Amino acid sequence: MNSSKISIIDTHAHLDGEEFDSDRDAVIARAAEAGIGRIITCGTSVEASEKAIALAEKYPAVYAAVGIHPQEIAGVKKTEISRIATLAKHPRVVAIGEMGLDFHRSVVYKDEQIKGLKWQLELAGELQLPVILHNRQATNEMIEILSGWVQKATADSPGVIHCFQENADNARIFLNMGFYLAFGGYIGYPKSQMAEVIKIVPQDRLVVETDCPYLPPQKYRGQRNEPAYIKLTVEKMAEIRGTNIETMAKITSENAERLFKLK
Ligand SMILES: [Zn+2]
Repeated sequence: MNSSKISIIDTHAHLDGEEFDSDRDAVIARAAEAGIGRIITCGTSVEASEKAIALAEKYPAVYAAVGIHPQEIAGVKKTEISRIATLAKHPRVVAIGEMGLDFHRSVVYKDEQIKGLKWQLELAGELQLPVILHNRQATNEMIEILSGWVQKATADSPGVIHCFQENADNARIFLNMGFYLAFGGYIGYPKSQMAEVIKIVPQDRLVVETDCPYLPPQKYRGQRNEPAYIKLTVEKMAEIRGTNIETMAKITSENAERLFKLK
């Protein structure tokens, strides 16, 4: 395989993480070398969103998403959402997120998570930006909230369900609402059941991501993940879909360009 021929978009990274403080330039250079021409780095708080924008200003390959993660939402004030609204107007911002619901690690702040998600969905609708959604053990609530919202969202595509790990039936529900589904390195884990889901996703709704520094592919498990490793995910996806890595890279890149209006 000739890496000069492929071009992949990593639709979900956390390049602001301190895990990258010592070698961020090298990480981004390695990504470019491996054919990862564009990376969307996602904010998880007001501060992290500011850092995401700073990275997008510094590196031409990097775009930013701004938002507040469900695990950062406790005690969130509407003023913070206003700050996100201001940040979202930056020309390098392509989405609102990472936002969502996570009842795995915390059900204590369930009401605040729901409130924070609704505020951010409303903002994305106003600004006509796609959303990047985190959903963990909150599928019923998520579907209920989104089905009410998608009617009002007038953006071409409402957004993406990041780190998709649900079954095929739930995949169809999100797809019917217009969402793209993003898959990461975990699709190559021995116990992964994502092949059955990846097979049923329409070609124009598939995107790839690293979620780095988290969720490294099998080969790098236990280590820090980084955008260059996304090739292994594209390769795995190509194998599942019965195609080659060049085709899979092209399809997922075109989808990411359309979803985030990168052109
Ligand atoms: Zn993330």
